[in-house]
Amino acid sequence: MSITVVGSIAFDAVETPFGVRERMLGGAATHFALAASLLDQVRIVGPVGDDFGEAELAVLRTRGSNIDDVERVAGGKTFFWKGKYGWDLNTRETLDTQLNVFEHFAPKLSEGSRAADVLFLANIQPGLQLQVREQCEMAKFVALDSMNLWIDIARDELVKIIEQVDCLVLNDEELRQLTGKPNLISAAREILGWGPSMVVAKQGEYGSALITADEFFALPAYPLPTVVDPTGAGDTFAGGFVGFIASRIGEELSGEVLRNAMAYGTALASFNVERFGTEGLEAVQAAAVHERVVDLHRFARFEPITADLIS
Ligand code: AMP
Repeated sequence: MSITVVGSIAFDAVETPFGVRERMLGGAATHFALAASLLDQVRIVGPVGDDFGEAELAVLRTRGSNIDDVERVAGGKTFFWKGKYGWDLNTRETLDTQLNVFEHFAPKLSEGSRAADVLFLANIQPGLQLQVREQCEMAKFVALDSMNLWIDIARDELVKIIEQVDCLVLNDEELRQLTGKPNLISAAREILGWGPSMVVAKQGEYGSALITADEFFALPAYPLPTVVDPTGAGDTFAGGFVGFIASRIGEELSGEVLRNAMAYGTALASFNVERFGTEGLEAVQAAAVHERVVDLHRFARFEPITADLIS
């Protein structure tokens, strides 16, 4: 079984109340792959410039991820993003976005990447997501992430690609922006009417919620005393969520499988935010992930006690 991911591979500059990094490896596909590679074989698709070195390629190859479709563009510069977080780590300001090699990228997937059972269209121009979707006809499960920038400047293309996926993963406020609906449930129901069978709302430090036609399931973020850099938390969550589903492909996608996928996404995102950039997910060990998943099951479970309500 394998997962193909297309999305940004980046250099990020990040400022949080806990430190500054001028240039570190980042990108939506990078964070996704580092998480999903704990659960399944990952193939990464995307361009980088010739400023992208062996050390960065080695990180992309973590846990055996395949980088045959990471195209090194001679004379090109790698995608660059700069962001700043305030004391409230749930809000961030984008200071700079340079598409660079993504501007003229035309994805041509190798045989191996086209044959993936699972496809993740990580955050990048919706037009590129569409081109990759068309090449992965065999995929049994396709999930997609996006962001406010693409809702602002490429909404029609974005809606077109959403119609062709099984699962949309998006921030709460972006779901409302995309649909013009005032709350999470009405926004998610609108999107379920477009084609996807599930919507996952990312809610930052408050966790995430899964909405299907007959299910609602919410998990808080893993309670951590130290969070230094939330960059990539959403993509890491998606890596755990989609990775878990990929590891079960062929089985029925039951509510139980989806809830456990949420737990793996949540646990993995917690390792991402404890350190800057990709550091947390490069270092994480399977046993530590399992410990946090078990904790999450404990936190989420309670037996019903019916109160004698006074009326
Ligand atoms: P997240 O914190 O999960 O929203 O993802 C942050 C990552 O998204 C960073 O590593 C950035 O490089 C990447 N990113 C930021 N803006 C964009 C964009 N417009 N298109 C694609 N990737 C982006």
